[in-house]
Amino acid sequence: MSRARGVLAVAAALAVLSGSCAAMRSPEPGTVVSEPGPIRLDFVEWNASTEDLLKGAVPEAARALGRWGGLHEPVKITVVNSHWELEQAVDRPLPGISAWARRNQVLLWDPRWWPAPPSVEHDPILAAQIRRAQVTRLLAHELTHCLMFQRVGGPPSDPQDRIPFWFREGMATLTAGEGAQWPPPESLSQWLAAHPGVDPLADAGTLSRTDPTVAYGAAYHGFDFLVRRYGDGTVLQILDRMRARGGFPQGFQDAVGVSVASFGTDFRRYLSWRGFQPARRPRP
Ligand SMILES: [Zn+2]
Repeated sequence: MSRARGVLAVAAALAVLSGSCAAMRSPEPGTVVSEPGPIRLDFVEWNASTEDLLKGAVPEAARALGRWGGLHEPVKITVVNSHWELEQAVDRPLPGISAWARRNQVLLWDPRWWPAPPSVEHDPILAAQIRRAQVTRLLAHELTHCLMFQRVGGPPSDPQDRIPFWFREGMATLTAGEGAQWPPPESLSQWLAAHPGVDPLADAGTLSRTDPTVAYGAAYHGFDFLVRRYGDGTVLQILDRMRARGGFPQGFQDAVGVSVASFGTDFRRYLSWRGFQPARRPRP
């Protein structure tokens, strides 16, 4: 997820919001050296425990990007102090969202303020382990957005609207290994039977506002369907051809050899005909 509008000087704007009682800003924002390129930590309000958490989680998250050749440009992770500050920085409501990616920046709501699951309230060690796993997955997701925006290019704005929701979120959720969070193909198949007029890929952007679980599930499994059929190299070709041809439909057609609409039809059939189930053995 990214957004060109509302790009603002986060640190400057939030310095006003955090007021004089804010802790000292880190004098030298930490740079985490990771395989896909330097990732810099930037705090609106520096906190030692958050910095420790991120210095452990960032390299692990960044390793997942190796599959796509890594980042082409540096990225700054800006830690803001509250969910409200995140929404202010992005200039839109972000229900249920803890981070936001742009081409060279990830805005992150400080994980120490994230609500912990009630089941681990009295187990700080387990709570810390869960938090670390959550942060690592989230950063892998957001850094994948940075990678795709960098690869597609197109300054000065991020190409959010040029990459369709299903591909953008599918690539991020798959890279971050978030499949278990979303409905399995069988659930999507049943949903599709009940909503025959909806295209789970083409309409995913609209669905993300009305039925986000279905939208993200369709994005994850649609992208997984693409990768298993055509391979990782084709995904990179789509991004590269997008850059060269100036649009997703043309880039997709060039790289995959079929149109986006045709691929969407194949995916609907895969769900409707339950192509995800193992083939039955013929009876002897
Ligand atoms: Zn995303």
